[in-house]
Amino acid sequence: MNLIDTHAHIDMPRFGDRAERRFAAVRAAAAGISAIVIPGVEPESWAGLLETAADLREIAPTVRFHTALGIHPQVLPELDPAHDSAALTALNDQIRAAPAGLVAIGECGLDFGPGGGGVPRERQVAVLRAHFALARATGLPLLLHCLKAHAAMLELLDERPLPPSILHSYSGSAEMVPAFCRGGHAVSFAGALTLPGARRPVLAARAVAADRLLLETDSPDQTPASRRPARNEPAFLEDIARAVAAARGEPVERVAETTTANARRFLRLAA
Ligand SMILES: [Zn+2]
Repeated sequence: MNLIDTHAHIDMPRFGDRAERRFAAVRAAAAGISAIVIPGVEPESWAGLLETAADLREIAPTVRFHTALGIHPQVLPELDPAHDSAALTALNDQIRAAPAGLVAIGECGLDFGPGGGGVPRERQVAVLRAHFALARATGLPLLLHCLKAHAAMLELLDERPLPPSILHSYSGSAEMVPAFCRGGHAVSFAGALTLPGARRPVLAARAVAADRLLLETDSPDQTPASRRPARNEPAFLEDIARAVAAARGEPVERVAETTTANARRFLRLAA
């Protein structure tokens, strides 16, 4: 099965050291993963992320390692608000330098849950708007994080057109899916779908039009149920594909084919 992991933080120290990342890359290749997108979350880690992608390209040449750079709402509590504009200028410079393998802007978004660390919503919105402006200027898609902030996110998405972007690890309702997709955007599903008794993500996965459906592991978080207590990695993506297939009543092969084609289209990846 040919699958694309559209969201895996394999550069994070929590994922493992360099040797462990390289083993995971080889396991991903063996599991049929043809491409992995590594999203950046904070300025401090961008350079290391690009290095990691280059390193993994060497060890697992059949997997295409793509990158994205952004500022995650969950790191804002650790960043001095006085430095936001400098950080966004640095983001602008990095994106426009177009490092090898860069396919998107993000991870960025809104988090009004505990993960947002009590950062004022206006600050989150301002930082997200800067990512939106950069996406409009470059035509690159966004990798969007949205937790407990679906109404606010929808309002921003509806304000002005954006390049077709990706709602990662969708946690909204099935009813909201068409609204999130109306601007041309796609919806990606992760491990929550595999948990026993999962209902909301199952209904949501059923509600997404076939041409907007994507898969991700969100490694090292969200380990699929059958792989626990291991930490998550791209090789486990097939579990997500099977859960999405079960939710939609489709053969897993069809889900693999559709989501791989969608990932290539949304992220403009070579076949
Ligand atoms: Zn993420």
